[in-house]
Formats: sequence, C-alpha cells, structure tokens
Amino acid sequence: MAAIGVDLGGTKVLGVLVEGGEVVAQAKLDTPRGGADQVVTAVAECARRLGDPAAVAGVGVGAPGVVASGTGDVVRAPNLAGFEARVPLGAMLAAALDGARVVVDNDVNAALLAEHCLGAGRASNDVLGVWVGTGVGGALVLDGRLRRGPGGGAGEIGHTTVAGVDRRCGCGQLGHLEAVAGRAAMEDEARRRHAAGEHTALVELAGRKRMKSSVFAKALDAGDQLAGELLDDAVAALGAALSSAAALVDLDLVVVGGGLADKLGSQFVGRVEQAVRTRLFVPTSALRVVPAALGDLAGALGAALLLDA
Ligand SMILES: [Zn+2]
Repeated sequence: MAAIGVDLGGTKVLGVLVEGGEVVAQAKLDTPRGGADQVVTAVAECARRLGDPAAVAGVGVGAPGVVASGTGDVVRAPNLAGFEARVPLGAMLAAALDGARVVVDNDVNAALLAEHCLGAGRASNDVLGVWVGTGVGGALVLDGRLRRGPGGGAGEIGHTTVAGVDRRCGCGQLGHLEAVAGRAAMEDEARRRHAAGEHTALVELAGRKRMKSSVFAKALDAGDQLAGELLDDAVAALGAALSSAAALVDLDLVVVGGGLADKLGSQFVGRVEQAVRTRLFVPTSALRVVPAALGDLAGALGAALLLDA
C-alpha cells in the first residue's frame, strides 16, 4: 500500500509518496518559524499535496531531535522554532489530518531505515548511521532492527564524548563529537580563529552568511590551511567515536550521510574509514565505512517506511 513520508527539517519540509519502495511524487515547503502549530500545519499541507492521508497506509514523519519511543512526542528539537520543550507532534498532526494514521521518529532513524532497506546498508544487519551536517546525527540498526532504546535516543553518536575535545556542544555539554565534527561547530571555530587574526578563505567565501558545506568544500579544494585543520580534527574525532561504537556493539557497517559528508564526497568517507581502522579493537574486523546512497530523499523515504515497521 502507498504511504506518505515527510522529512521535517530546520529549513524545509520535504514529503514523498512511496509505492512499492519507489518515490512516485514529491512536495516541498519552507519550515515556518512561528511555533509548533505552524509547523504542524505545514507538515499536514505537505502530506495533503501528495494524496489523501486516509487513502494510504498513513503519514510517517522524521523529525529532528529526540522522539520519545512509541509516543510521537518530540522531546526536544532545538533547531525547530517552538520545539524547545516537549511537543506531541504525532497527536497534533493526526488531529490536523482528521485522524489519519501518523508515526513519528527521529529524522536520522528514518534515513538509516531507508538506507538499511533500500540503500547502502541493505546487506548488513548491524549498522551505525552517522549524519554529518549542521550537527552530527546518529542512528543504529542492530540484528536487522532499528534500535531506539527506552528513551528514544539510541545511536546518538554526535553526543558521545571524545577524549581531547574541549569545546562546548550545541546540546550544552562539553567535549561531544558534534562540537568538533558538526558544520555549525566548525563554522564557530573558523570565525573565532579568524577574529583572532588567522587568515582563512572560509570567512571570505561565506561573508556574514551561514558557512555552508559547499564553502568548506571550496576552501579545502583551494588548500586553505585552517579549513584543512578543522577537517583533520573532525576526521580524527569521528574515527575515535566510531571505533568506540564498533567496540561496544560490534558493527559490520557505518553509513556516512548528511550535508557536509555529501559535499565533501567519498574522499572524506575514505578518510573517516582510515581513522576508524587505525583504532579498531579487533584489527581484522570486516567493518566498512561507506557513503549513504539515497541522498536528500533518504529521510522522507524512511519516514514512509516507518509505517511498515
Ligand atoms: Zn552534545
């Protein structure tokens, strides 16, 4: 049966209609900034543009932040206006869609589900997904099933602590992976060091605007030293965190996705794999680190697949 999947992001709401594992239609809206009610209205509008929610299996939503297991409640999503505290997104959306079936999960959980069913993780049953974008998201498939954990936060590799990292994370804690490998944290560090007198093409290219992933790619291509150092630090921290995760749960695959990883390409993923391999507890492990295969649509596609789970 057809299903609607919606990837609710900080800047856009991207929806797909999925039939037989194929995307047959897409819809996109800007994410409103006026609070949770407006966001719910936009997600409902996106779903309705793709079909009658009552005539399909339902509407799956991938949302940023932690989603409380089995509730549809978003506990905390700092990148969405109005989601600083707990929001019953699933219940609000079901009401807005006249009682249609609604399932909500974390956005990276949804994306990894898609990669596991249809993309880079198809042949693997124990997969960690790490999404390197504005922040560092994570999700975990163990024994072929998405692991959510009692609080819904399983797999959040971005908020594990890495030795030697002394920067403050977006979540408020000190020393997390995201504080050195997330695009926003790398931008903060570049601007701080530029203000302290270091030259970098990163600030020239970005100006006062957001230092997008493409800006990092351009600066690295041009041999910018500061950009190179920031990336070296990010790769080293990813190697440390991912090899620790592999030691803890025994993985056969790490899938690397997200905006920054997409822009930096397979060379970046190869460097991360090298950094992981040098730290593996079992050096003969068959663990592989590969790029995500489904691109921008993974989150929305996986959100639709949530309805089968
Ligand atoms: Zn954190």
